[in-house]
Amino acid sequence: MTVPSCILEHHPLSAYAAIGIGGRARYFAAPASIQHVRQVMSFARDRRLPLYVLGRGSNVLIADTGIQGVVAALSGAFREIAFQESAGTVTAGAGAPLIKLGAALARKGYAGCAYMGVIPGSIGGAVRMNAGTGQGQEIACHLLRARVLDPVSLEERWLEQGDLQFAYRTSSLCRTQAIVLEAVFRLPEQRDAEPCQVFADIRALFARRRATQPKCRFTFGSTFKNPAGAEYAAGWYLEHAGMKGMRSGGAMVSREHANWIINTGGAGSDDVKKLIETGRRRVYEQFGIMLEREVVYFPEDMGPSDLFRQMPH
Ligand SMILES: Cc1cc2nc3c(=O)[nH]c(=O)nc-3n(C[C@H](O)[C@H](O)[C@H](O)COP(=O)(O)OP(=O)(O)OC[C@H]3O[C@@H](n4cnc5c(N)ncnc54)[C@H](O)[C@@H]3O)c2cc1C
Repeated sequence: MTVPSCILEHHPLSAYAAIGIGGRARYFAAPASIQHVRQVMSFARDRRLPLYVLGRGSNVLIADTGIQGVVAALSGAFREIAFQESAGTVTAGAGAPLIKLGAALARKGYAGCAYMGVIPGSIGGAVRMNAGTGQGQEIACHLLRARVLDPVSLEERWLEQGDLQFAYRTSSLCRTQAIVLEAVFRLPEQRDAEPCQVFADIRALFARRRATQPKCRFTFGSTFKNPAGAEYAAGWYLEHAGMKGMRSGGAMVSREHANWIINTGGAGSDDVKKLIETGRRRVYEQFGIMLEREVVYFPEDMGPSDLFRQMPH
């Protein structure tokens, strides 16, 4: 069976992950249109290979051993953003950076979505992960519906907000391998006359984060979710379990924020996993709290059987 020219073989993935770690994809494609996505999916299905979608790689740890399947990163038309102001909505392609949507809303003077301007993921990743900030602003607050593609039937379907079962940093999409193609958001009711005021809100949020978060570029942000019902955030427990500054190879728990792991250079995926497991064990032994990972292990968290899981109903 020949490999279509749009599919690359043995493609290195580390540059696609914010933490700068990862082996090669057996097959890689950057589909720019729905026809192209279907072609890539048919290729994966015909070869019975798992298909994994990568957004902007800001929340994944890609295995050094690489991906024995097809990795797709949406590009081209999937990066577009279009306003339907008379309907009070904005539609964003799943490959568009969330920051681009935040900036587009700011330019039009829509306030109340500053968090979108500071989270470094794609629309697709943000919808799946229900990205948001600690200040209670998250995708679920603004999403109306998402168009998804079933990897088995290759059928497209609109899922309404209620179908997506959003909760803290998760959605029903985490239990499927459905691909988000685009998402429709409700425009905020609050519209300031001056876009510069909205940009000022985004800058202020950035500044707050810069003051409290590590400056290192090579990281996936929070490693663990904040434990539900616990008194403190995950970082507090990790810090008090002595994790700050702990190293494993080139990976290190940030000295500024114990819930962040950084790649100081040459870290491998196993180095990071060791730190994650040590942190989880220590917090459990010391505080009886079992932390849940936020970062997605690629491909372990998305086993091949995922390809054949059902879409949400
Ligand atoms: C510096 C830094 C700061 C961060 N701050 C925050 C924060 O404040 N709040 C927050 O919530 N997160 C934060 N994150 C984490 C991350 O940005 C979010 O989780 C983001 O939503 C992930 O999007 P992504 O496109 O990078 O997804 P990826 O990391 O590429 O993938 C994450 C998951 O989404 C899936 N996915 C990606 N695209 C699609 C698609 N089109 N269809 C279906 N599934 C898809 C992937 O398969 C994977 O399972 C931060 C990360 C960094 C590096």
